[in-house]
Amino acid sequence: MENAKSRVYFADLRAGVKRNLFDKLDVLMERVDLKRKFSKGQLIAIKLHFGEKGNTSYIRPNFVRRVVERVKETGAKPFLTDANTLYVGQRGESVSHLITAIENGFDYAVAGAPLIIADGLRGESARKIQIEGQHFKEVSIGSEIVAADGMVVLTHFKCHEMTGFGGAIKNIGMGCASREGKLAQHSNVAPIVDQSGCTGCESCYKWCPAGAITVEGRKALIDANICIGCGKCIIVCPEKTIHIQWDETTAGLQEKMAEYACGGLKGKDRRVVFINFITQVTPSCDCYGHTDAPIVPDIGILASDDPVALDHACAVLVNQQEGIKNTALESGHEPGGDKFRGVHPEVDWEIQLVHAEKMGLGNRGYELIAVL
Ligand code: SF4
Ligand code: SF4
Repeated sequence: MENAKSRVYFADLRAGVKRNLFDKLDVLMERVDLKRKFSKGQLIAIKLHFGEKGNTSYIRPNFVRRVVERVKETGAKPFLTDANTLYVGQRGESVSHLITAIENGFDYAVAGAPLIIADGLRGESARKIQIEGQHFKEVSIGSEIVAADGMVVLTHFKCHEMTGFGGAIKNIGMGCASREGKLAQHSNVAPIVDQSGCTGCESCYKWCPAGAITVEGRKALIDANICIGCGKCIIVCPEKTIHIQWDETTAGLQEKMAEYACGGLKGKDRRVVFINFITQVTPSCDCYGHTDAPIVPDIGILASDDPVALDHACAVLVNQQEGIKNTALESGHEPGGDKFRGVHPEVDWEIQLVHAEKMGLGNRGYELIAVL
């Protein structure tokens, strides 16, 4: 719907003796009417990213606990979930994934809800969902996401090397997809090595989770048939000589991700709430086993019924900030400068918003309503 505006509720991070950030999170959940969304006996997926081992920028488990408590008050039964990753890090199958989640603090004793990986032991448990997309007519979503009655989508909003930023759309679109679904989104995304800049240091070879890189004669080469499009080599190359074929591929990836987000939400009707944390806005996603310095100051917590409006509002808020010097941000430091392009200059991050809107996932237009 053109020109339609969705409500996005915003709490800044000021806190004091009378009101801490958990209280503010409570207010946000009230404003999106969480209590009326869920009811007794429903199984509610709290979709989040548990963070890779060594990462520290994922949403803190004690915030997640507050969401769990509010969902429980409705009589529903929440569980924490994410789908396994495409690459073979510490979340590529459910055993390692659960261990990593628990080591990162998502224990029942802390979060107050059990952990259930969405797509089975090895990412093979998926359901096919029909959609009317430009790229897909059918998408492959983790079974437990599909089986859940409703969802709270909790997202750490940050930059992303393949999509400019990673927000709610990515959390659902990529994060709820099965291994097969992730592969389908990443097809045709193999980066290329500009060999004139390659020193043969082998960093990319060592980090590539798919074994897609060979280094011969001190020059690296990527086999596009093996590459899973994770983008890790781009980040680790000290010479910055590995590039995605951005013009066509990142656009396609973002569009596919938006279509998968439609599949991830299908059947949930209005039983979904989206909450984004704009804290520790790192240059890359939480899939890395490290956390680089944030590029802007922490901004706040936002909630909405509309993931497109929510992500758009977050992107605008990030860009309105003054960028932090001596970080990965290379341009756009001034308020209003494009921070996502300042880190990933060749990615047009608006594509995911435009396509998500076209798919009927929500509106780019929003009304930002400050709470407290
Ligand atoms: S994007 Fe790079 S690191 Fe990832 S699978 Fe492909 S070649 Fe390997
Ligand atoms: S990390 Fe970069 S410089 Fe090192 S081998 Fe790979 S492409 Fe070459």
